[in-house]
Formats: sequence, structure tokens, C-alpha cells
Amino acid sequence: MTTYALETRSVIKTYQSESGTIQAVDDVSLQVAAGEFVALVGPSGSGKTTMLSMLAALLQPTSGQILLDGQDLAGMNDVDRVAMRREKIGFTFQANNLVPYLTAVENVELMLRLNNRLDKAGSLRARELLARLGLGERLHNLPGQMSGGQQQRVAIARALIHNPSLVLADEPTASLDTERAYQVVETFAGLIHEQQRAGIMVTHDLRMCEYVDRVLQMQDGKLVRIYTGREEIRQLIQGDKKQD
Ligand code: ADP
Ligand code: MG
Repeated sequence: MTTYALETRSVIKTYQSESGTIQAVDDVSLQVAAGEFVALVGPSGSGKTTMLSMLAALLQPTSGQILLDGQDLAGMNDVDRVAMRREKIGFTFQANNLVPYLTAVENVELMLRLNNRLDKAGSLRARELLARLGLGERLHNLPGQMSGGQQQRVAIARALIHNPSLVLADEPTASLDTERAYQVVETFAGLIHEQQRAGIMVTHDLRMCEYVDRVLQMQDGKLVRIYTGREEIRQLIQGDKKQD
């Protein structure tokens, strides 16, 4: 029935606080196809992290559906949801969360190990993916022996190695200089397209939208606008530059 890797239907998330109820995500319906890379943008407090956490199956919506390969994460029990997260979802966070005492290749292999899928072929794929990301000479380095950009690329390899349907990145370039940031996002976009993953990147740096297929803009918990096609996305990036 569904042809989307990811689809949300009327997703709402409310938080209770001392000052009352906060509608952090307010009726968001969206679709992302396999092989499509989208950016999620919006001002601070607009609900991006809350949205991403629900897509990552880390947080349950108050209501609505989150369909990953047609299966509703919101309607699942905890055991099934954790299994979906481990097998079908890859993440990279702003702080890259690499294990400090494991080498680059061991950090990537860890995702396969957790799924009981670390075999010779998997190990070879981990090495190939790291080489593809320009880290062929760094396979046996610990995170502390690598630059921020190199660490972020290891984190990207780790997010992709188990062939997830959905790849989520929260501010993956926040710790990088502009040139490195462009390189990382361009490579990430290339892999998402080539391997047919559904990719979502939260970013506050609109220049990074250069490499995405669509931009979803949030405000006050709502999805307020979708930019589609190179021309519309370029105008969004240009408009942002003029404000600087
Ligand atoms: P963004 O990532 O776009 O900055 P968030 O998803 O972090 O937005 O936050 C959206 C809204 O929800 C904000 O008003 C924020 O203060 C509120 N919020 C986020 N997390 C919580 C929480 N755990 N408890 C209460 N309110 C929260
Ligand atoms: Mg946030």
C-alpha cells in the first residue's frame, strides 16, 4: 500500500510543564521516499529534536502514526520498537558518540555486532565504507586520534553500515568548519542516494541544504512549508545569506 520508507500521519507530541501543556509537535504529516534526503529546519524551539526523537523510536508520540516500511512505530510494544530501532534506523548526533576505546572500524562494526550480523562480509563492508568516506588510512585510529571531521565521518559510516531504511542526522556538521561541513554532507547525501536510504538531517545551517532533495520547515511545532526542487531550495539558501 505505502510506497514511502517513512510516513507520519497527524503526529502530535505534548509535554506537561509547570506553565501548562506544550504542543512541541502539532499535527505533522510527512513522507520520505527511499533514496530521498530531506532537511528539517526551523527556529530553536520549533520541535525539530522532538520530531527526530519520535522518528528514531526514542520517544512515543501523544497521538498519530509513524510508519517505517509500513509498520507503525507508535502502535508497537517496547520490545518490537527497540528491535525496529536497532535494525532499521541509523543515527548520527551532533556529539558523535563514538566509543572512545574502540578504533574507527570497531566503532562501525559495533552496529553489526549489536544485530548479531558481524561476519567477514560485514567487516569488509565496514572497511569499504570508511575508505569511501576518506578514512582508509584511519581504520585503526581511536576517536581521540582523529579530527572532528574524521570522527563525524566515522559516525556516518556507523549510521549506514547495518543497511537501515531510515537514517537520521541531528546537526551532523555543528562541530565542523564550513569546508569540512560541505564535504561531509555531500558524501552523506551521495550514500543516501546510492544506497536508497530515506535520510533526514536537522540543521540550523541552511547552506547545508545545498545537497538535499527537499527542505521541511517547522515553526511552533507545525510543518509550515516544504521547499522542493533546486531552484526553490537555492532561493531559501540565498535569502538566508542576505539576512547575515
Ligand atoms: P528544537 O529542536 O526545534 O529546538 P524542541 O523539539 O527541542 O525544538 O522543543 C520544542 C518545544 O518543546 C519547545 O518549546 C521546548 O521547550 C519543549 N520541550 C522539548 N523537550 C521538552 C521536555 N522534555 N519537556 C517539556 N518541554 C519540552
Ligand atoms: Mg533541537
